[in-house]
Amino acid sequence: MTKINENFLKLQAGYLFPEVARRVRAYQAKNPEAKIISLGIGDVTQPLPPAIIEAMQKAVEDMAGANTFRGYGPEQGYDFLIEAIIENDFKSRGVDLDKSEVFISDGAKCDTANIQEMFGLDNIVAVTDPVYPVYVDSSVMAGRTGQANEKGQYDKIVYMPCTAENNFIPEPPTTPVDIIYLCFPNNPTGAAAAKETLSEWVDFARRTGAIILFDAAYEAFITNPDIPHSIYEIDGAKEVAIEFRSFSKTAGFTGVRCAFTVVPRQLTAAASNGRAVEVNPLWNRRHSTKFNGASYVSQAGAAAVYTPEGRKQTRQIIDIYMANAALIRKSLTKLGYKAYGGVNAPYIWVKTPAGVGSWDFFDQLLQKANVVGTPGAGFGPAGEGYFRLTAFATPANVKEAMQRIANSV
Ligand SMILES: *Cc1c(COP(=O)(O)O)cnc(C)c1O
Repeated sequence: MTKINENFLKLQAGYLFPEVARRVRAYQAKNPEAKIISLGIGDVTQPLPPAIIEAMQKAVEDMAGANTFRGYGPEQGYDFLIEAIIENDFKSRGVDLDKSEVFISDGAKCDTANIQEMFGLDNIVAVTDPVYPVYVDSSVMAGRTGQANEKGQYDKIVYMPCTAENNFIPEPPTTPVDIIYLCFPNNPTGAAAAKETLSEWVDFARRTGAIILFDAAYEAFITNPDIPHSIYEIDGAKEVAIEFRSFSKTAGFTGVRCAFTVVPRQLTAAASNGRAVEVNPLWNRRHSTKFNGASYVSQAGAAAVYTPEGRKQTRQIIDIYMANAALIRKSLTKLGYKAYGGVNAPYIWVKTPAGVGSWDFFDQLLQKANVVGTPGAGFGPAGEGYFRLTAFATPANVKEAMQRIANSV
């Protein structure tokens, strides 16, 4: 009989969002008149701006003409998009990339998971706690971990706690690690990494021979001019880091799908005979074998993000979200809460009052203010005592939610 991949049986039940939904449903059933506002979603709400819509409509028209129709494109993505990315996202920040180092895809979620295929199963993976669950669950599926303990943490994964005490910046591990997932600006804590922080991590990776998988999905939300947007702004990072970017949050592409991954030519990992092997050609091989390219229409839309109108219009949308973030942070601070993040990221990470756990706080907010957020404990044990609010709701809903919270305390 066919044998199952038993690694899947190690996975802990996807508890967080189903449990949030269950509690909201139960409350709504008992209180049908309650108008619940969700500040829990990690999805954008503003429609795509006109410049992107026009570019996508033109691309659809291209598909209708015998001379302009496009079938399979290059698996790595169209040059028009790769060139726009290199010029606007990297060259402008002093980073030179070759076209062969940028791989267009249909999402950073899948790329952050799939990249693991480049590396042997005996590598030790390090993640932050709290963490974006994709990094962990994909490590489990691949067979890089043992079983989960009672806290839901897997054997063989190294967890790096991030709390107010370390400003939500992880300390480099004291035990050996090979693959380090870092996400800055961070989901869920909203923390951003200063140049010195990233330099320390790059130094650590260079010293220990580890590779950093740098998820920069929220780079566009950085407002502080001193915060690097790319890990390659740090000297020597090209030898030790892979960077993931996405148009999902930057330009509202969660339903369109377009992202990219940078794998520098200088990046190597060791073969069993000690030979340093370039990762880039292997990722190229993997990408061309298992992926047939992001859609032409999506890539045309993504390229429009870099036009003058596209830049202006996507900036305006990000400004809407960041005004939401500022209002949430200000309102909660005024009420006496400790609120973190929300300055370089669309996430606000709130310390729950002493003695009130993440889930208790969730219930209180739901019942007293009809506002839904996400319990920090759902992102890892170090998230206990914290609560995540997102800035992606409409400004009217955010305003209303903040008034209700103020009236409820
Ligand atoms: C939203 C998000 C992404 C983007 O994923 P896509 O597949 O490109 O939509 C990546 N990383 C993190 C941490 C995210 O929150």
